[in-house]
Amino acid sequence: MPELPEVLTTIKQLKPKVINRKITKIWIDKRTKTENLISKSKTLKLVNRKIVQITNIGKYLLFHLDNNQTLIIHQKISGHLLFGQFIIKNNCLKPIDNLSPINDPVNRFIRFGLKFQSNNWMVLSDARRLARITLTTTDNISNIKPIKQMGLDPLSRHWTFVNFSKKLQTHNIAIKTALLSQNIIIGLGNIYSDEVLFKSQIHPLRKISTLNQDELHKLFKYIPSILQQAIKAGGTTFATYRTPNGNIGTYVNFLNVYNRKNQPCKICKYTIQSTKLHGRTTYFCKNCQK
Ligand SMILES: [Zn+2]
Repeated sequence: MPELPEVLTTIKQLKPKVINRKITKIWIDKRTKTENLISKSKTLKLVNRKIVQITNIGKYLLFHLDNNQTLIIHQKISGHLLFGQFIIKNNCLKPIDNLSPINDPVNRFIRFGLKFQSNNWMVLSDARRLARITLTTTDNISNIKPIKQMGLDPLSRHWTFVNFSKKLQTHNIAIKTALLSQNIIIGLGNIYSDEVLFKSQIHPLRKISTLNQDELHKLFKYIPSILQQAIKAGGTTFATYRTPNGNIGTYVNFLNVYNRKNQPCKICKYTIQSTKLHGRTTYFCKNCQK
């Protein structure tokens, strides 16, 4: 699932390509359930509009238009946005250049596309069809329920040790569960929460009340620093995630524990283990993480 580094990489690459370009056409895959994607009537409001800014709140991508409307995209598990040249063929959007990374098989599940005056398209490829798109008044964004309940953004000016420890200590759950909870901290998913806990030398199942000040400081430091390093690498690709130009995210080469079950720990050589937490696999080094 795209986490904060993948969302921010997507925004970084799309900005120079779509900002101030007029939208000339909308395309929606007929086989996609309309309740998952934007309704036809709402898409009409997008034609002839310009995207003036792209921001995010956690994993929500916000495309602000020149008419006080904002297109909100949540990519969910397998959705990712691509940018390039496409043509409509047999009710599908197909890339024009067969040799481009855009033509990678994971990029062929196109559900939605915006065509710009430049003749390029920004499209959403989503194999699992779970991504959500909505259009709302820009002033209304903070009233949308999941956005209203969002926690602390590790890459914002609100990220202070006082705010962080206060927010964390109002819950007494396993630290891994807390890191995944978007109403506590936004943007961390399974990959980066495992990496943060490894770096902080904290076992994922530890209860928050058992963490000492030193451990809280480590988490406070490593959450934004690991996210920043992943952004520099263009995010992490395991299965479906691609950057808008169709390429993979290379942070996968820097992972210490995630998806490394039975491989030796890069620090102590002890075998990396995994456990299930809320149905999701959690990776850790039993020797390094206490
Ligand atoms: Zn280790």
